[in-house]
Amino acid sequence: MQITLVQGDITEQQVDAVVNAANSSLLGGGGVDGAIHRRGGPEILQECRRVRASQYAGGLPTGQAVATTAGRLPARWVIHTVGPVYSASEDRSELLASCYRESLRVADDLGARSVAFPAVSAGIYGWPMDDAARIAVRTVRGTATTVQDVRFVLFTPDAYEAFAKAVGDG
Ligand code: ADP
Repeated sequence: MQITLVQGDITEQQVDAVVNAANSSLLGGGGVDGAIHRRGGPEILQECRRVRASQYAGGLPTGQAVATTAGRLPARWVIHTVGPVYSASEDRSELLASCYRESLRVADDLGARSVAFPAVSAGIYGWPMDDAARIAVRTVRGTATTVQDVRFVLFTPDAYEAFAKAVGDG
């Protein structure tokens, strides 16, 4: 598997699947979630509603992942995962690692060969970027998957730097 870092907008990526840092309602939110729904169009939300009704009446649990159409995005699928809200008093790293593992498992089930990830939990959910990057890179490297191209798409130069350091340190 090859890991690539890109600074940019995940909604523009030409990959099989883009991962969304969703919230458990799956009904849209801010940050990368808002961008994906805006660019991808209403089809994504329609399918999210169906997924909620049929499989996750109580919401998608933190650390899990589920796929929908990508609507008008260049990608074929959106894989929605729910990152943990950062806590300084409780170690929630395992839940963040689970987001990456579960997203890759869903990608394997779909037959996706290329997957773009944002920095899950490192925006509105408050995870310190360096630590989020370390967990992301370590987990993806440690996961057995048929995905060949993992692209971390970082929105800001700081996030890119944090991921570059995590890739170099690993
Ligand atoms: P969370 O609620 O899991 O923290 P956010 O969407 O708030 O999710 O933030 C996750 C990361 O995604 C942040 O680093 C944020 O800057 C970044 N981000 C926001 N919009 C985009 C986008 N269009 N493409 C890639 N990354 C984005």
